[in-house]
Amino acid sequence: MERKARMKQRFEDKSSHTSVRYLRKMRELSGAPEEMAPFFDTLDRIYTKMKNMNIPGGVPLIGTYCVMVPQELIYAAGAQPVKLCSGSYTAFSIGDDKVPRDACPLVKAVEGFQSIGTMPVYSECRMFAVPVTCDCKKKIAGMLASQHNTAVLHVPVNKEDEDIEQYVEDLYGFMEKLEDVTGNRITYASLSESMRMTGRAAYELSRFIALKKQMPYLIRGTHSMAVMNAAAYMNAGIWSDQVRNLNDALEKRVRNKETFTKRQLPRVLITGSPIIFPNIKIPLLIEEMGGFVAADETCMGERGMSDPVVPVDDSFDGLIRSLAVRAIRPCSCPTFADNKQRIFRIRQMIRDYKIEGVIYHVLRGCLVYDFEYRKIEEDLGRLGIPVIRLETDYNEEDIEQLRIRIEAFIEMIKLQKTPEIQH
Ligand code: SF4
Ligand code: SF4
Repeated sequence: MERKARMKQRFEDKSSHTSVRYLRKMRELSGAPEEMAPFFDTLDRIYTKMKNMNIPGGVPLIGTYCVMVPQELIYAAGAQPVKLCSGSYTAFSIGDDKVPRDACPLVKAVEGFQSIGTMPVYSECRMFAVPVTCDCKKKIAGMLASQHNTAVLHVPVNKEDEDIEQYVEDLYGFMEKLEDVTGNRITYASLSESMRMTGRAAYELSRFIALKKQMPYLIRGTHSMAVMNAAAYMNAGIWSDQVRNLNDALEKRVRNKETFTKRQLPRVLITGSPIIFPNIKIPLLIEEMGGFVAADETCMGERGMSDPVVPVDDSFDGLIRSLAVRAIRPCSCPTFADNKQRIFRIRQMIRDYKIEGVIYHVLRGCLVYDFEYRKIEEDLGRLGIPVIRLETDYNEEDIEQLRIRIEAFIEMIKLQKTPEIQH
């Protein structure tokens, strides 16, 4: 076997081994409704079996690298979006040798996937769309553009009207590129249709969120994260159907007052750098250590999809404008200069999900999230909510250290809940 083929084989073996392990851990956590199966199966299909998305042959795949790329435009061009930010430890270890040491693990994993070219969701993309948000995303854009057809979107740093205008221009440019790649014109009808489809996904997600708020301990946070991670690799229509089935099952649980535990587990919110399969060690550790991930304020969670598109007016331009507004205005990513919005969102989530402690996740080298930590720590301090900052990478070397810190954090929340235990 020649060297490159051997490397590919080694990559596939190692990568699927890690994914199998993490999937098994997620499945083994008690209380997953049967209706979770399609989401686990999707992660299994992509990461363990290394197959392409389950879509009709001939539908072009467009890889995206941030939730600020409007999927509606891709669907309207008759293509299928796939979110390619990944948490692969194996791709990270390959990319680690190729990009600067201090770059974030996400950019290292992207480089790793590009150089090994073995996963169909990466290798079969007809075009990539990369919004330049942080420095790492800029470098991803440059790296991809040197080898592939790549649309670079200039996400503004502010959210004023003129900033939105600038993004509208970019979306028109992106639209032309999509039309060239797919050979299909994006029309008012096709765009309206794709907005209806993603609107249905946002609706089912809003039902899911409402159910979780209505009854704590209804579904584990790690399982919710599997639902959201699987959305990256599923057609929005199919994902909506599966979330509807899950919501129906959860509604039944609410009616029967059925929870996955009878204990009052400490309720934790995760915020910070994206948590992407298979790098789900933190939520898993929280739940293995007796905590409950009640909610996550990350772009792979609720933040990425829950805000619906509200058409500005009935014209085609109005639809494009509404996509730009939805991508930028509600986004609480720290890549925006003024990001007060994020703390409002976190406060709201603390209230809605009755949060007792916050875990602030920083991927090593992710400066934008790390930068906001102090402000959020101060704010949470005023609310009396404990917070810890956990910095990690895409590997398992720090698992024991993380376990000790998470366990201590959960014990501290328990003691705060029941002060008499201290005597
Ligand atoms: S963290 Fe921000 S820039 Fe990165 S993918 Fe999420 S929304 Fe986009
Ligand atoms: S926002 Fe953070 S995690 Fe995402 S690409 Fe930038 S540095 Fe990496």
